Amino acid sequence: MFRAACSVIRWMSAGVRHGTRNTKHAVPHLLITILLLMAAPSSRSQPAPRPDFVLVIHGGAGVVLSDDLTPEKEKAARATMDAALLAGHSVLVRGGKSLDAVIAAIRILEDSPLFNAGKGSVLTSEGTVGMDASIMDGATRKAGACADVKHVKNPIDLARLVMDKTPHVLLAGEGAEMLAKEHGLVLMPADYFITDHRKLQLQRIQQLEKKFKAGEKKAQLNSLEGIGTVGAVALDKHGNLAAGTSTGGMVNKRFGRIGDSPVIGAGTYAHNQTCAVSGTGHGEFFLRGVVAYDIAAKMEYQGVALTNAAEEVVMRKLKDAGGRGGVIALDTKGNVAMPFNSEGMYRGVIRADGKPWTAIRKE
Ligand code: ASP
Repeated sequence: MFRAACSVIRWMSAGVRHGTRNTKHAVPHLLITILLLMAAPSSRSQPAPRPDFVLVIHGGAGVVLSDDLTPEKEKAARATMDAALLAGHSVLVRGGKSLDAVIAAIRILEDSPLFNAGKGSVLTSEGTVGMDASIMDGATRKAGACADVKHVKNPIDLARLVMDKTPHVLLAGEGAEMLAKEHGLVLMPADYFITDHRKLQLQRIQQLEKKFKAGEKKAQLNSLEGIGTVGAVALDKHGNLAAGTSTGGMVNKRFGRIGDSPVIGAGTYAHNQTCAVSGTGHGEFFLRGVVAYDIAAKMEYQGVALTNAAEEVVMRKLKDAGGRGGVIALDTKGNVAMPFNSEGMYRGVIRADGKPWTAIRKE
């Protein structure tokens, strides 16, 4: 702007010197031009407004219209999601990191028996629990994850430890639990994680499976799939993205099965240049479709906007492949996408105003 004003002055004074400009009008014009130039906003000198902070969570995608979701359960689930959103908000409002907000929100969902992560995780075919979690920092693209852990109260904390304290990205089983022990994470006996609801769910699905083998309709089986993983993506005041996911996996899964949630690029991904994503749904399809990274890749290589990229991947590619589920996704401008191709997805958003918004069904 300053340079432009100088050239106008130079042009005017040259005209006056050579007698080619009308000096009577030149001076007021000159002043007006300089004033206008000074008042005009300059795109070069003004930094882009700092993005607001945002936190988005999910509590799993799946069937929500069945008898399973009573009004009381819905109220309790929404209250827990509100609490998770507010916990993350309190981190972000103080200028805290998106990573810490993601963890604060996920811990609350892990501690609740209502969601399929931490306490209340779904059961394997052997009636045991095997939990997976991961976290990714969009600023550094550092990531950490744990898989098939059986005693760690908050697997998301262990994912953070793997990221911060080891040169690795993914630790599984006993080795992962050793790291948790070394760093004083809270460990719980296996019984802590197992709820009556999950025992009943396993019984019902195993009975149905027997019937199904004997020729019953598959639809009944689908309605009992215990999808309900939790995840969070956040954008902090510094403009950094983070994503995290935590799960007990899929009900009646084979002992030792690991899903998409601890796999960076499949169930979780974050990169400041594109977006932060956490997925929920039938993990095998998310693994094969590299779903979380696919959304980021569409943005990076094709310049597709967040909402379109997320819609295309979840509502077309994943769905066409037969994969049920959804994602929460967020970019550095604070745009949010929450597509799901299942009947519903527990989800919530909180922004700087501190008012939690939650939904379960299609709206
Ligand atoms: N994606 C998880 C898994 O397959 C399940 C879920 O999202 O509920 O392990």
